[in-house]
Amino acid sequence: MSKIELKRRKCPNCGSMTIKAEMKFRLEQIYNLNESYNLDLFKKTFTEYEDNIIYNICNECSLVYSKFIWPDSLLNEVYSNIINHDRSRQKIYDINKTLELVREWNSILRVLKFLGKKRTDELRILDFGCGWGDFIHVIDCRGVQIYGFDEDKIKIDEAKKNGCKIFSSIDDLKNNKPFDVIILNSVLEHIQDVNGVLQLLYELLNTNGLLITLVMDYRPRFIKLNYESIKKGELPLTKNLNPIEHVNIYSYKTLKENLKANNFELLTTGVSLSATNIPFVRNSWGILKLITQMEKLTSKIVAGRNMDITVYSIKRNMTVNK
Ligand SMILES: [Zn+2]
Repeated sequence: MSKIELKRRKCPNCGSMTIKAEMKFRLEQIYNLNESYNLDLFKKTFTEYEDNIIYNICNECSLVYSKFIWPDSLLNEVYSNIINHDRSRQKIYDINKTLELVREWNSILRVLKFLGKKRTDELRILDFGCGWGDFIHVIDCRGVQIYGFDEDKIKIDEAKKNGCKIFSSIDDLKNNKPFDVIILNSVLEHIQDVNGVLQLLYELLNTNGLLITLVMDYRPRFIKLNYESIKKGELPLTKNLNPIEHVNIYSYKTLKENLKANNFELLTTGVSLSATNIPFVRNSWGILKLITQMEKLTSKIVAGRNMDITVYSIKRNMTVNK
């Protein structure tokens, strides 16, 4: 392949082109941390793009995002051939990973209960970016209609073989709407046209639709440490800070803003929801809302490493069953 001239991205959260700083990665800072990459193929594909492996930090909203738009041909090479599928498949059998998914499903049911749902056979759910279908298997309890969507052919073929119902085109999704719940589990980080996808999901959700967004949690303090580290030529603080695969690095603040700009209203966060493990909080929508307000206020303090932010939101202009 000869080098394709890359176009610059605008900030996908606020649309600004002005930046506070940029984090420039050398190729080896990426591949030294990513053991699952096919090294020869990665070097062959990306050596000529070494000067383009950059994160911008938006001057207006502080979102960290990949500076350039990667052409589909390059991303296909990454997701189909450079990343080793066998290694990725092995992760789904990890008990800790399964526990995380079970906990998340528990939280989703709790939020649905707060929204007035009473029965599992009232639920039509879409796992957007479902990969191997491991979350689908956790959610697939009696009555629930659970569907997946993904673009990775190897993963969806295997998920289908294991009994998952998977849509593989946007038209398929539109023909099968609406859904009561849409889950984005570690998806938004990978998407270049974030607003396009959020608008699609808005269209796919029904009138009481719940959107659950899980992304990696890297708040400004952690990003600053990473900036200093890679500038000194050291490795990034985590392999997740990689402008090729993870083109948007959200903080709690920027994720909320991006959802709001696409007409999703914040209901609660994973942190707030965990307080409902306390029996007297469990059935009180008012207390949950109060704790959510507190979490909004304190969200700048906690810096994450290998943590997730979970945000539950609904379509705006909707009445919530209190
Ligand atoms: Zn911005």
